[in-house]
Amino acid sequence: MVLAQWDEKVLSKYLNDVSHMLLSSSDAQFKLVRDMQANIKRIVNLAAGHNKHRTIQQAVFNEHCKILDPGKPSFTPKKGKTSVVIFVGLQGSGKTTTCTKHAYYYQKKGWKPTLFCADTFRAGAFDQFKQKCNKNQNSLLWKVLLDNMESDPVKIAVDGVETFKKENRDLIFVDTRGQHKQEAFCRYINTDLIIFVMESSIGQATFDQAQAFKISVAIGAVIIIFKYNLQDQQSDSDYCYLVCLQSCSHQKTSPFIGTGEHPEEFEIFDVKPFVSHLLR
Ligand code: GDP
Repeated sequence: MVLAQWDEKVLSKYLNDVSHMLLSSSDAQFKLVRDMQANIKRIVNLAAGHNKHRTIQQAVFNEHCKILDPGKPSFTPKKGKTSVVIFVGLQGSGKTTTCTKHAYYYQKKGWKPTLFCADTFRAGAFDQFKQKCNKNQNSLLWKVLLDNMESDPVKIAVDGVETFKKENRDLIFVDTRGQHKQEAFCRYINTDLIIFVMESSIGQATFDQAQAFKISVAIGAVIIIFKYNLQDQQSDSDYCYLVCLQSCSHQKTSPFIGTGEHPEEFEIFDVKPFVSHLLR
């Protein structure tokens, strides 16, 4: 929804929609959004006369910023110390792309990252991974494990982490097969962070996905992928921010944001420009 269109009618519909969507949500999530609604209503009730329209917009903007602010990251890697980060999420959500973006981001900053694929389930997974890494110009980062014919993803992951630890890599990024029953996988690796990657456009199903993954693995951060330009898809943007609200209110979000398919389309998440973009 375009911020300029927010008035009492839009606000009232929005608050109803959010409440409706939250009927099946957790208590913590419900409380967070209920507080947000209460804050907006309180601020708007205090506004008088011709300033009301502007006050509504300001309140909506500020409350979205508050709720979407990732705050302190759940994990911060240290240069010179090996950290292991695993990416989970449904197939097609954007895991591999996001994994290569992370590696590229840190490589550009002079770190020694590496990434490998522990997906033995999908036919041609290694070839796809190779193609994406090549596309993202990360050829130096991934080559070690590509010839691995091992069929057990747990073994590949354990071997991969060991191999790269010996090389004193700062960051080891592990791409996975996109299935939420990954507990065995994650149990055998000493991970510093598990990132759940999800796509915004599938709407409320993202919440169920996050829950399913959360039951199996200890998710430490969430990355939301927007695969289309919000400006071109205004009708969908209502959904987007509701999804964001839902996901962010029960999970720690990643401090990064992916803005496109290419490796350089990845930046540190700054909540104000993001909310402006979402509500423009
Ligand atoms: P995976 O199966 O979870 O590893 O997902 P992929 O990384 O293969 O991504 C699936 C599709 O989404 C590919 O066509 C990617 O190019 C596309 N994609 C991934 N991340 C982004 C993003 O941030 N923006 C856009 N526009 N497309 C993306």
